[in-house]
Amino acid sequence: MSARSNKRHSASQRRRRRGTENDARPLERPLGRDRRGRVVFVACEGEKTEPDYLEYLDETFGPGTPDRPQFSLHPIAVKNGMRPTQTVDMVVKDAGTDEAWVLFDRDGTDRDADIQKALVTAAANKVEVGFSHPSFDLWLLLHFQAFTGAQSGRSTVVVERLRNSKATDAFRDYDKRNNKNVSAPARRDALRDNEQRAVDRARALVNQCEHGDCQAAKAKWDPVARSATKSSESRDRPSWQSWAARSGHAEHCPVLRRDPSTDVWRLLVTLGIATAP
Ligand SMILES: [Zn+2]
Repeated sequence: MSARSNKRHSASQRRRRRGTENDARPLERPLGRDRRGRVVFVACEGEKTEPDYLEYLDETFGPGTPDRPQFSLHPIAVKNGMRPTQTVDMVVKDAGTDEAWVLFDRDGTDRDADIQKALVTAAANKVEVGFSHPSFDLWLLLHFQAFTGAQSGRSTVVVERLRNSKATDAFRDYDKRNNKNVSAPARRDALRDNEQRAVDRARALVNQCEHGDCQAAKAKWDPVARSATKSSESRDRPSWQSWAARSGHAEHCPVLRRDPSTDVWRLLVTLGIATAP
């Protein structure tokens, strides 16, 4: 409980530093050091791996280059993780009108109803969904090798491949004794400069989707305007199917059968870290 409080506390401290402690105030926030460039809030199901990874992206790519604009990522995570619906609720609360994403996984077969509900709420609030099937570990693995074959929600094979990768030794102990960090310098170094390969491989998985009508070329990642409160105008709200189709998967491709797949590549493309034709 205390760790959870600490996490939440640090998020609210960040907000305070930006002078936004009063939620009733207009959500026009002054640009400051914490609001460098594009501001993107990302709520994560996992408590460790995904927030670590987002911090890596923020520190490595956030400052920008002459060719790439600055951005600041604000990971949101809590001790012991969140259910998919909780990630959406949390980012809606914390992001205000800023860009908002969630990262969650299929991760077994016992939470399908919660995932479905999260997709509906995400669409209603224009929260981008970075869904991974079976897990975020697939996204890490794609930095080092391609991967195919349905996993029915189990990460065992993905994690094995990651540990035994010929491309890097940095993940040999990954997920042993809870060692799921991406903060270790060796792991960061291993990921670095493989972002474009991971994006290309993730896009290939969209094109290989067994559904047949799914095309990475149809994916979208343009920033969308978000209002602070959910629009009551139903015409302003995308259907959850069309919102989930921003992944490049067809509207009628069942999300829970996108196996294997990971939408995390769209976050890197929208931030300019990698490109997509
Ligand atoms: Zn599909």
